[in-house]
Amino acid sequence: MRCKFLLFGATGSIGDSTLDVLRQRRDDFELVGFSWHNNAQKAAAIQADYPRAQSYSTAKVGHEAELRRLLDLEYDFIIVAIVGAAGVVTTLEAARRGATILLANKESLVIAGDIVMAAARAAGATFVPVDSEHSSLYRLLKGAGALETHAHIRCAYLTASGGPLRHLSGDDFYNAPRETVLKHPTWVMGQKITVDSAGLANKALEVIEAHHLFGLPYEKIQAVIHPQSYVHAMLMASDGTVSQHVSQPDMRYPIAHAMYYPGEPPVDTVKGNTPESYPLFEFYPIDEKKFRAYALGRKAGQMGMYHSAVFNAANEAAVAEFLEGNIRFGEIAELIERALDAKYAAYDHTTIAGLLQYDSAARALVSQFAHTT
Ligand code: NAD
Ligand code: MG
Repeated sequence: MRCKFLLFGATGSIGDSTLDVLRQRRDDFELVGFSWHNNAQKAAAIQADYPRAQSYSTAKVGHEAELRRLLDLEYDFIIVAIVGAAGVVTTLEAARRGATILLANKESLVIAGDIVMAAARAAGATFVPVDSEHSSLYRLLKGAGALETHAHIRCAYLTASGGPLRHLSGDDFYNAPRETVLKHPTWVMGQKITVDSAGLANKALEVIEAHHLFGLPYEKIQAVIHPQSYVHAMLMASDGTVSQHVSQPDMRYPIAHAMYYPGEPPVDTVKGNTPESYPLFEFYPIDEKKFRAYALGRKAGQMGMYHSAVFNAANEAAVAEFLEGNIRFGEIAELIERALDAKYAAYDHTTIAGLLQYDSAARALVSQFAHTT
């Protein structure tokens, strides 16, 4: 019996890697539905490969009904590979239905982690991480018998490559041009996450994601720069010893691992993962003065309530302004800081509607700041 699945955000980078795994494993999996946003040509090519799959565009009016139509189909798991805040509606609806959710869209948990995880617990939904660091951390925690209780875990480490600006500082970092920012040294990804990775906002999003996925307190989640991106996560036990989870930087590993959950992929996902071929591994602390977006995001996560939703929205809006050429790279962190410092109306941060009001208010502020400074 083939496992049936839905793929939301099929036309993106995670969508590409998922469809690549599917091509190699057609005997094990079947795509029964997918969504796409505005890349109609790519969506048509996917539809031609999988003619029986149901599909819809999230750019069309009334697409929420289409989401429910797909979620009413019969499937074993869903993959949320939509980028940004737009993914939260899909993740939450799937959590409420008790689905097995393979989550790439970290922004869902950053905006509304408490609400999404509570809905998942109430309906018996399961989250399986797709983000590489979280997939590795899941495997390390499982191996250590620490998925439920973290008593003998001193600290979990997420690694960050340091991105294309690792060697730049001062004005060179602040004014880094778009072409440089989009040239990630180790991972091939969509534009938004590539910009997030250059300023390490992505690592702050991932710290918050790990907090919600694994229930780890923030002081037990640290991040470290590892330029080679072979070690994805590390786990320090209470005796100070450290386990690492290692592979070449290729998203097909965590995607295949999630697709076979709760089992393990039966064959190599990517060829050539042998230790004698590995580069020398280096590890460095994160300079939080330079990577301000990382420090701001971590703090927002720790402050809880609506702060991480504001961090996420401000970051998304500022990254869009940067990609459109309206602001300099260093202004992304400045705009996030201004949005986090701003006063907001007292929306209800315990509801998704309230959090989306904070999201809209933060975006409006960033747009106003970006066009008046
Ligand atoms: P991408 O930009 O390549 O693709 C995103 C997908 O989302 C596309 O199918 C696009 O059509 C769709 N989309 C865009 N705007 C939308 C909207 N408003 N509503 C609904 N759908 C929309 O992004 P990506 O790099 O594949 O990343 C997807 C998610 O996975 C992000 O949350 C990212 O942080 C996470 N992630 C990506 C990688 C990676 O290697 N690319 C690694 C880890 C985590
Ligand atoms: Mg990651």
